[in-house]
Amino acid sequence: MNRTRSEQLYQEALQHIVGGVNSPSRSFKAVGGGAPVFMKRANGAYFWDEDDNRYIDYLAAYGPIITGHAHPHITEAITRAAQNGTLYGTPTQLEIQLARMLKEAIPSMDKVRFVNSGTEAVMTTIRVARAYTKRNKIIKFAGCYHGHSDLVLVAAGSGPSTLGIPDSAGIPTSIAHEVITVPYNDLDALQAALAKWGDDVAAVMVEPIVGNFGMVMPKEGFLEGLCRMARDNGSLVIYDEVITAFRFHYGSTQTFAGLQNHDAIRPDLTALGKIIGGGLPIGAYGGSKEVMEQVAPLGPAYQAGTMAGNPASISAGIACLEVLQGEGVYEEMDRLAAKLADGLQASAGRYGVPLTINRIRGSLSTHFCDHPVTNYDEAQDTDGEAFAAFFRAMLNRNINLAPSKYEAWFLTTAHTEADIDATLEAADASFKEISK
Ligand code: PMP
Repeated sequence: MNRTRSEQLYQEALQHIVGGVNSPSRSFKAVGGGAPVFMKRANGAYFWDEDDNRYIDYLAAYGPIITGHAHPHITEAITRAAQNGTLYGTPTQLEIQLARMLKEAIPSMDKVRFVNSGTEAVMTTIRVARAYTKRNKIIKFAGCYHGHSDLVLVAAGSGPSTLGIPDSAGIPTSIAHEVITVPYNDLDALQAALAKWGDDVAAVMVEPIVGNFGMVMPKEGFLEGLCRMARDNGSLVIYDEVITAFRFHYGSTQTFAGLQNHDAIRPDLTALGKIIGGGLPIGAYGGSKEVMEQVAPLGPAYQAGTMAGNPASISAGIACLEVLQGEGVYEEMDRLAAKLADGLQASAGRYGVPLTINRIRGSLSTHFCDHPVTNYDEAQDTDGEAFAAFFRAMLNRNINLAPSKYEAWFLTTAHTEADIDATLEAADASFKEISK
């Protein structure tokens, strides 16, 4: 496949943009290096690169594009917003509408505040939890990624772990000392951490369903135990649902976890982003009235934003959620993803490639190993070279995956049966190629 233009543009980008990319996970560093593909157009489930190659896309921009690219309903909403002025710096009726939609879908949110990214949302939940509890430390789980603010880039997953940088430079040890990291799905470790530092733990923060070292479900009782232990300790529970909210069904983890007792897994604060902006920059956080009233102008915890709640992002978010309210939307993604996962597993088996697939409805992750993946250690203990070879083999067959063994494949409402069939054909040839 000819990708000459991407190679030229990458050389040019390197002259002007640090590393040639505006987010490190876009580089191909974790899959052997070289020029990433420069895309010039996207529609539905497809990308076209600068050399006019067409790809079936499973990156979905790392999650937000759940309705496929350039969905007409969202495009129309953005166009209307642009025609009415994109940024006011005043309150708008639109903000109330999206806040209401979030509250209706996420029962633990009495009050909402919009920000501009997942990073901002998470960062602020921590501040609010500290303000509310008057404590300093947070407990997080190894491999969970919570954006790039100082406190949560300690033993973070996603980009940093892929690049082999466990902690970022530029973060003082004094800040890192305010964070305790324990393994996901391990209540004993959480209990031990609380026993040691509990008096000063403001919050236990978790991706309630993990999306950053593959897709990983909480073990039965994990979230209940986490919430109970945090509460017994006087700490708040923060769910980072930047990936997971509206990903598996129209709502949050609390309402998705079918058999579980919803009250027992209710967080105090939730951070949101990605899908709720329909492809434009957004973040949001919310929680109980009592906790949220810590936030300025009502309370002492300061948080602000020039771009926050801008009509373009809010309009795109409303339109995206409207699409997701459609009949059978999630069921269809689930059905196609099941077919995809089954086919991938069968092909890998045919060529003797060890593969564990974690699938949660319309999302899945492929782990090149022969053991289950339930925590970060197990996700790390997988064959990165095999993934890299598979990634390139797929790319050369017009399938766009995230360039990291830790990232998920996301289906969208735009993917069709024919796309899945084409992907499985490419995957069969790719597994065959890498098994040689
Ligand atoms: N939390 C989670 C769970 C995420 O996956 C991400 C981004 N991948 C973030 C927070 C940060 O979001 P953003 O990139 O919008 O700052």
